[in-house]
Amino acid sequence: MAVPILDLKRSFESIRPEIESRLKKIFDDQSFILGQDVKDFETHCEKYLEVPEGSCVSCASGTDALLLALMASDIHEGDEVITTPFTFFATSGAIARLGAKPVFADVDPNTYNIDINDAMKRITSKTKAFLPVHLFGQVCAFENVIDELHDKGITVIEDAAQAFGACRIVDDGKKILRAGVIGDVGCYSFFPTKNLGGCGDAGMVITRDKVKAERLKRLRVHGSGETYYHDEIGINSRLDSIQAAILDVKLKYLETWNEERRRLAEYYRLLFNAHALNDVVIVPSELEHNRHIYHQYVIRVTSKRNELMNYLNENGFAVRVYYPLSLHLQPCFKYLGYHEGDFPVSEMLSREVLALPVFPGLRAQEQEALVECIAKFFRRN
Ligand SMILES: *Cc1c(COP(=O)(O)O)cnc(C)c1O
Repeated sequence: MAVPILDLKRSFESIRPEIESRLKKIFDDQSFILGQDVKDFETHCEKYLEVPEGSCVSCASGTDALLLALMASDIHEGDEVITTPFTFFATSGAIARLGAKPVFADVDPNTYNIDINDAMKRITSKTKAFLPVHLFGQVCAFENVIDELHDKGITVIEDAAQAFGACRIVDDGKKILRAGVIGDVGCYSFFPTKNLGGCGDAGMVITRDKVKAERLKRLRVHGSGETYYHDEIGINSRLDSIQAAILDVKLKYLETWNEERRRLAEYYRLLFNAHALNDVVIVPSELEHNRHIYHQYVIRVTSKRNELMNYLNENGFAVRVYYPLSLHLQPCFKYLGYHEGDFPVSEMLSREVLALPVFPGLRAQEQEALVECIAKFFRRN
């Protein structure tokens, strides 16, 4: 049996006709950038996320969303931004790209998200923003420190690239905190492999702050409000009609797909329990009140992770390590002056994590065979 880490074909086939008819219309109209399809997609995202009209500003990628969010929050050279070292590179890449300084805090070993207590200890007079990541589809619970951060003049920017549709349900079910709209500005990615993924690069910034939203709309078109008149220096980062139309169709299925991912995660948990692998495999934990959407299903393997990974790959099961090197140890960030041992939890995770296939259309027999293979590996050794 060969099980891929992700097979986009399985969820695409059922929506192919709908997407093809939307694309045909775009080719008929020949309007490709920031057209009606883009407006419609932004409006539908606003409805889905229950935010006021005008809150969603689409752009060309998740990386650009981060860059635009930081620019609109006036992050400049020398400013400090507190963030996690255990994430995809783009999170701190965007900070450094603006000449600002990524200041890392360690992460929580259960959720893999930034450790809020450690983050708060790293605030200095230069701290301008706090940039947590909702990693692997689980919301980072930082709502209790927002007021304190605001009192210190710190903007909260969320990297929700992996968490479109994830939320926290608090106050006895009365309040829903959605990934991306808990802090001041949120960033989404619609890279093809994300839970809501286009057929190319795409992203979105979200903010309830109307002034900021208008500024973001200018920043994505070279900083011009009125065409050819530039109020500030922006970038070129627009969503195109083709991506918008595809994403608009897919958005309708996102809830169903996210629910399916949650069921797959629950089944993995049952399988690992049934095989009594708890001494070597730690399954992902869902923080109380969280609706984890399992962008990735990432276990911790406390011994022989690499051997297990090779064994599984040899047996046809595609498993991956996200992420093998904590960002504070990346060669490009050497100038920040961090060393091995600075973030023990993040470093431990990079040695122990293993992502298993999780995607709409993954079959029960495939999950069973995979966990069976993991059990076989540990019995053999
Ligand atoms: C995917 C991702 C990004 C970047 O998004 P792109 O659309 O690929 O530019 C940023 N942060 C995280 C955590 C991601 O997973």
